[in-house]
Amino acid sequence: MKKATPPKPIDQPSSPTVVSKMADQLHQAYRELETKFESLNQKLEETNQQLKQSLAEKEKITSFLKNILESLTSGVLVVDLAGKITMFNKAAEEITGYKAVEVVGRPYSEIIGKNIDKELNALKTLKTKTPHIDEERELLNKNGAKVPLGFSTAPLVDSEGALLGVVEIFFDLSKIKKLEDEVSRVKTLAALGEMAATVAHEVRNPLGGITGFADLLNKEIAESDSRKQYVKKIIEGVENLNRTVKNLLTYARMIKVAPQEVNLTRFLDEVVKFYEMDLQREKKNIVILREYVRPELKAKIDPEHFRQVVLNLLQNATQSMPKGGKVKISAEYARDQKIKQEKLFLKIADSGSGMSKEVLDKMFTPFFTTKEGGTGLGMATIKKIVEAHQGEIKVNSEVGKGTEVEISLPLF
Ligand code: ADP
Ligand code: MG
Repeated sequence: MKKATPPKPIDQPSSPTVVSKMADQLHQAYRELETKFESLNQKLEETNQQLKQSLAEKEKITSFLKNILESLTSGVLVVDLAGKITMFNKAAEEITGYKAVEVVGRPYSEIIGKNIDKELNALKTLKTKTPHIDEERELLNKNGAKVPLGFSTAPLVDSEGALLGVVEIFFDLSKIKKLEDEVSRVKTLAALGEMAATVAHEVRNPLGGITGFADLLNKEIAESDSRKQYVKKIIEGVENLNRTVKNLLTYARMIKVAPQEVNLTRFLDEVVKFYEMDLQREKKNIVILREYVRPELKAKIDPEHFRQVVLNLLQNATQSMPKGGKVKISAEYARDQKIKQEKLFLKIADSGSGMSKEVLDKMFTPFFTTKEGGTGLGMATIKKIVEAHQGEIKVNSEVGKGTEVEISLPLF
């Protein structure tokens, strides 16, 4: 009998080859898992990085938008659907007097909508969804003062068109309103000025007559005659009137200057001497100091008009010193630092009352005067004449100390 062949031994799990194979597979799987994990990790890292970047970008955009809002000179505010303020920029703080921290979260109607036309505000836009464009209304600021506002409102919607609230943009109209008032005042004044000029023109001829006859009388009456004083008073009064009339006419007309080369030293001397006679006659305790040392100081000016400039300045200086004082006149060539060119500087300084900032701001406005019986045309006329000479005029003044007027003229 054939001996049966023994069955092949079945692979035992404990056989070393099998174990190592399994270990290999395990290793393999582990390595695969490891690389997968690594790549996942890397991906995570990348996503993280991207997220960070996009977050930083978003932050940059947000802060950029915020910077824009904060840098705007117009007030910007946002109200939500409940009518509460959610955004309030810096200009809004400046215009209303409220700080953003005080108003954010509070009802619009309690802050900016206080006491105002209910038809003209952001809440109306919230209700009707119709914008206000370039309208005007008044605002009560934190101090309770009224501020004229220019404003626009618009519904604030998201990308799907859903209403989120209302945005309002507003700006302070005070300065513009003031300017408008000023313009209308100047217009009225200009019309009045024209009328005054017509009257002045009519007055001029009879004035000439009075001067002539008064001069005749003056010559005929002896110095010892007590009536001489009366005649002198008449002449004085007429001279003053003449000056006013001349200012009015110069101011109302377009002036035409005919500059010519003039020896300024001599010219100033003549005008000052003439004025000193006036001062003596009126017994004013005023000393005029001449500080133009150069005997030859040439200028290109219209002598007739410039005489008026110097006389008006001397008159203002005198009037600012009712108890007397000093007037200093100086003239010199100097370099204008701004345009780096030589110019002629003429200065008239007094030790009088000086001017407050308000007066200083308005002194060139026609008909502005602080004097009883003043015309307010002296400085306006001076400015017109100086500018017709391509010159500039500057005034420095301090209350209680005095005033210095500086005229600079181009050299031919
Ligand atoms: P008026 O002399 O008729 O008042 P002006 O145009 O000459 O008009 O001057 C306008 C105003 O400017 C004066 O009323 C005065 O308040 C002020 N002012 C001008 N010059 C002087 C000065 N030297 N010192 C003080 N105030 C002056
Ligand atoms: Mg004057």
